[in-house]
Amino acid sequence: MTSATHSSVQSHVFHRDLKARYPVAVGGEGCWLIDRDGKRYLDASGGAAVSCLGHLHPKVVAAIRDQAGRLEFAHTAFFTNEPAEALADWLVARAPAGIERVYFVSGGSEANEAALKLARQVHVERGEPGRIHAIARHQSYHGNTLGVLALGGNPARRALYEPLLGLPVSHIEPCYAYRHQGEGESEEAYGLRAARALEAEILRLGPETVSVFFAETVVGATAGAVPPARGYFREIRRICDRYGVLLVLDEVMCGMGRTGTLFACEQDGVVPDMITTAKGLGAGHQPIGAVLVKGALAETIEQAGGVFAHGHTYIGHPIACAAALATQRVIEADGLLQRVSVNGEAFREALEARFGQHPHVGDIRGRGYFRAIELVADRDTKAPFRRGLGLAARIKAHAMAEGLVCYPGNGTADGIDGDHVLLAPPFIASDEEMSMIVDRLAVAVDAALADIAV
Ligand code: PMP
Repeated sequence: MTSATHSSVQSHVFHRDLKARYPVAVGGEGCWLIDRDGKRYLDASGGAAVSCLGHLHPKVVAAIRDQAGRLEFAHTAFFTNEPAEALADWLVARAPAGIERVYFVSGGSEANEAALKLARQVHVERGEPGRIHAIARHQSYHGNTLGVLALGGNPARRALYEPLLGLPVSHIEPCYAYRHQGEGESEEAYGLRAARALEAEILRLGPETVSVFFAETVVGATAGAVPPARGYFREIRRICDRYGVLLVLDEVMCGMGRTGTLFACEQDGVVPDMITTAKGLGAGHQPIGAVLVKGALAETIEQAGGVFAHGHTYIGHPIACAAALATQRVIEADGLLQRVSVNGEAFREALEARFGQHPHVGDIRGRGYFRAIELVADRDTKAPFRRGLGLAARIKAHAMAEGLVCYPGNGTADGIDGDHVLLAPPFIASDEEMSMIVDRLAVAVDAALADIAV
């Protein structure tokens, strides 16, 4: 073992993978992470779509320092605080029409847990306590705590904990054109067909029993930057309205500018009842998440007694909110949404140029700076590589050796989907860094394929 790595043998940290040897990160600089040996890693995925301003952004660091010198904590059972109020104002002013309240939490799972409970409470307060079912999609991820783990459609993450996942939830087909759009079927027709799976499930359960439908606007970790087909979410909105089902869009990964608009759903022409967000909100400089809530839902709670029966110690944390506000100000002042939107196309073209003819890249997809390639054993049949080959893990290892942080995964629903690599570069990456990402990824992918001798 070099001095730069830690394994379970020497570390008392309960690591994600107790057998892994992790380099010890000691510094950050723009798009780069630096380990204890001085090795530099180009952070092409912001970890898991977190670090949208890269590392140690000076304006965010200054905001954290400043807030730490004024007020570090005041419990929200007793006080509100200036950064939380200012951040909520900022977000509501830029959110889709009708969103009027922001509930702050410390991360994505907490945001989705809060949304799940809020949906339930709203139905109870409106005199419909029979609305208990949640519906989500296969190949989705909504977090790791027990409630939202039950919600997510990722069997591998759920398997070990199954008996504990008691939430009444059902899963419908995702909207995943590469895998499910029919031959000769238009994108719009496919979008409508995929959305109608929700209507069928609501009718099967009985509309009066359904509380909420959850979906990632652009799917992140489980399938890799899968955008919805045109018209899909408009039809989903229509169906939810028709049956009184609340719509939550999980933008924990794809929100806060990652796709070129502040909220990914702006591009789909829908306003959900709630938007959950986290990673890009505080850009990794502080742990923070949020639920953006339609005014009508807050009014229901207000009229019924006023208390959302929920809360964590660290909600609305002043330093976290100050970091998030500084992050969002930088995004706006530096024109980063436009940059992601315009350069996102150049990024797609660069991926197409490098991987478009690759015999084992079946799909290149995504929006803005949220892109993925999907790897397949056979491009014609779209057959994935066998799970046991561990292709995604091999790509990650080769990428790290190459000095590249990317986010490979393998879809884990019924084995039909292949390994993918998710890329979520910092919005501030230079043209040179963007090219380097594609170059290094190509080396890592080919080295991993060579390992499994294809
Ligand atoms: N929802 C989505 C779409 C996510 O990608 C994630 C994290 N990968 C979560 C929820 C959970 O967020 P956290 O890890 O901050 O709890």
